[in-house]
Amino acid sequence: MKIVLQNVLWLLFFVAYQYFCLASESVTIGILFNEGSHQSEIALNSTLHKKNTFDQKAFFKSNVLQISNFDSFEASKTLCGMLEADYGIAAVIGLESPTRAILESICNHFEVPYIMTSWRPPTRKQTDTVFNFFPEAELFAQALAEIVKSLQWGSFVIIYETEEGLIRMQEILKLQDYKRNSKQNNILVKQLGPGNDHRSLLKEIKNATENNIILDCKTEHILPILQQAKDQNLLSLHNNYLLTSLTETVLFYDALLHLTDSINDLMYTEKSITPNPINCFEQTKSKNGYIFAAYMKERKPSLSLSGPLKFDDNGNRIHFNIHVVDILDNQVIADWYASNSSLVLRRSSNDTEFAAVANLQKILVNVSSRIGEPYLKYRESEEGKILYGNDRYEGYSMDLIQEVANIIGFRFEFHLAEDKEYGKWDEKKKKWTGLVGDLLERKAQLAVCDLTITHQRREVVDFSMPFMTLGISILYKKEEKKDINMFAFLDPFSVSVWIYTATLYLIISVVLYFISRMTPGDWENPHPCDENPEELENIWDIKNCLWLTLGSIMTQGCDILPKGISSRMAVSMWWFFSLIMTSSYTANLAAFLTKDRMEPTIDGAEALSKQTKIKYGVVDGGSTMAFFRDSNFSTYQRMWTNMLATRPSVFEKNNNDGVKRVQAPKGQYAFLMESTQIEYEIETKCDLKQVGSSLDTKSYGIAMPMNSPYRSAINKAILKLQESGKLNDLKNKWWKEKRKDPSCENFDVEEKSDSAELALANVGGVFFVLGVGIAIAVMLAIFEFLWNVRSVSVEEHLTYWEALKVELKFACNVWITKKRTKPVISESSSSSSHKSDKTDDKSMIHSFLQSAGSFMNLNN
Ligand code: GLU
Repeated sequence: MKIVLQNVLWLLFFVAYQYFCLASESVTIGILFNEGSHQSEIALNSTLHKKNTFDQKAFFKSNVLQISNFDSFEASKTLCGMLEADYGIAAVIGLESPTRAILESICNHFEVPYIMTSWRPPTRKQTDTVFNFFPEAELFAQALAEIVKSLQWGSFVIIYETEEGLIRMQEILKLQDYKRNSKQNNILVKQLGPGNDHRSLLKEIKNATENNIILDCKTEHILPILQQAKDQNLLSLHNNYLLTSLTETVLFYDALLHLTDSINDLMYTEKSITPNPINCFEQTKSKNGYIFAAYMKERKPSLSLSGPLKFDDNGNRIHFNIHVVDILDNQVIADWYASNSSLVLRRSSNDTEFAAVANLQKILVNVSSRIGEPYLKYRESEEGKILYGNDRYEGYSMDLIQEVANIIGFRFEFHLAEDKEYGKWDEKKKKWTGLVGDLLERKAQLAVCDLTITHQRREVVDFSMPFMTLGISILYKKEEKKDINMFAFLDPFSVSVWIYTATLYLIISVVLYFISRMTPGDWENPHPCDENPEELENIWDIKNCLWLTLGSIMTQGCDILPKGISSRMAVSMWWFFSLIMTSSYTANLAAFLTKDRMEPTIDGAEALSKQTKIKYGVVDGGSTMAFFRDSNFSTYQRMWTNMLATRPSVFEKNNNDGVKRVQAPKGQYAFLMESTQIEYEIETKCDLKQVGSSLDTKSYGIAMPMNSPYRSAINKAILKLQESGKLNDLKNKWWKEKRKDPSCENFDVEEKSDSAELALANVGGVFFVLGVGIAIAVMLAIFEFLWNVRSVSVEEHLTYWEALKVELKFACNVWITKKRTKPVISESSSSSSHKSDKTDDKSMIHSFLQSAGSFMNLNN
């Protein structure tokens, strides 16, 4: 207790000594605050308190006044009132204010030191007692430009609040590399509107798909603006902000410290800086202000938060350091030194990547994708089970991102692009669609599917290194296996024509029979030597009529012909009919048998482009469409023109629809799609085939917003997967192993032969008719033979078997070319052979000749 009391007494003694013995002079500093300078007020109080407690010479007091931001006259009145005080004002510190210029000129006129802590436009005006702790305007603009350059942003937006802000940006604006025809100019400049709601401006920036923003506004406006940017999804991982506003409180602190230190220094040198009151109307000037200001300009600061301090003749600060801080990592990434106008980068590319990966690990990465087998499809759930999140999908893309995530160590969630598109520039809506649109609208950090790396997309988003290579090819239907019709020779005529012809054949034969009976010309003398025959004969019985009409229609003719006028007329009309019918049949038969061969065949894009029967198309809005649209090659240009002109449209929403259209039973449609997808489709859809080789070579990559800092980490992961064979395994898994449908590998398809000849199957029916006809003829012959054997056995009084034996033996002996009218029966042949010589031999040939003779009127 005693010790404590002793200490308190010592402390009181020390403070009293400071007040009464050492601090012989009190010095008042004038402070002109504006309406929002509360933080600086805290800095002021704490600094003065510290100074008064520990420094010996001067005791500092402050005269703090608020000045009007808008009324210069009011502000000058306030300043003059302050300077009039009896105790005098050693120096004035004026914070940021639009009335700054008038205050500056009053102080300069009365030679009162005036210290500023805010930006002022470049000035060449000689000022002896005015100086600014804020960096000189042109140097500052140069520093900002160097910093922006070092960030290597391809494009960015400058948001500024006041006209002065735009002057600060002048050097940055010179970085503009204006591309006249580009969809994006690399620098967009926007001014914050009045009021606190800047959402529409931020939305505009979002629609312009810009990630890099330079924000130049009052420090107190930064947080509300960033909050609104967050609402617009403009504060995600790939958005970069450069805040150019320096903290005025730091400069104020440095100014106050420098000022009080200088006063103390002067006190030690016994130079009196006792300020005198100044009357603005009497034009009295400060007695010591000039010396004091000169000392302050030359003095080296002992401790300055804002770095080295040096002023030029105009009171501009020409030495200062700027540190660029990455707020996410809380790390200084670069320093700019005004003394030698140089920028020193503190972070290597490795550090940047490391920081990017660390940031990625902190968030749930959104992956934009689309449904399209085998890249992504809905997972079948067990009955009654509802799936959420990533469990809803499966496929190559999901596995690929899972592998990449395992290597880098981030969590992710798949989302489907609302418009289900891959990504194309929509000229009407003036924005990108699909996955690319999702990246640009900051809805996702990654985008993956069968997304082709194209130069148009590469202008607005970044791609990882390729994970699959492919080319455009043609998907077409294999030739259908048609049922072979053996009776194709009947096809040239319809059934009704066949029936009418057959009926007509019978009718004409009967009509001819009656005509020839009626016409006298067909009644002939049976014995031409007898000039007055008693009887006339007509050969046109019904059998002969049938034979003549049949011979005519088969184009074989007949060896007996009618002689009567009317019968000849009837027959010639029948010949005319036969001529037309047989020629039509022959012509049609040829066309029918070669019909299949007339179907157009394609063996590549060139063949496809030269025909019009088979329509062809592509996925709408995909890279294949872009390939044909932008190609300079005449064949592809022609194909593109054809595609545009074809109705109904040949563009399909997705690959699946295209494949279905190719498979459609009657549709003659070829689909131009990517070879990897064709490979997938023809693996199980055995009716499809790839036609020709690839038209180009390209690849799929994982897309991400432009200048994504994690791009190189993703590239490394893909390289790793490729080297370890994992990418191959994944492809095998989704292209082969996971397929439920049977593979087409062993599928036997009869390819259409290109040769011109007809196969046996095509003319099989003709062989069949011949076979059946000959078989019937043979059976008839056997029947006739047996019938003749029966007659012989009866007439020759032989047993049937004896007669059969004799006739058979004769028939089989091919050396005998003549036959007796009666059969020769050997002695031994039969017990009843003696009867044979009594009987007229009616051999088979004889009987046949007889009947044929009667048929053709030869036996007369
Ligand atoms: N892979 C294509 C793309 O990224 C889509 C399919 C296609 O155009 O054939 O756009």
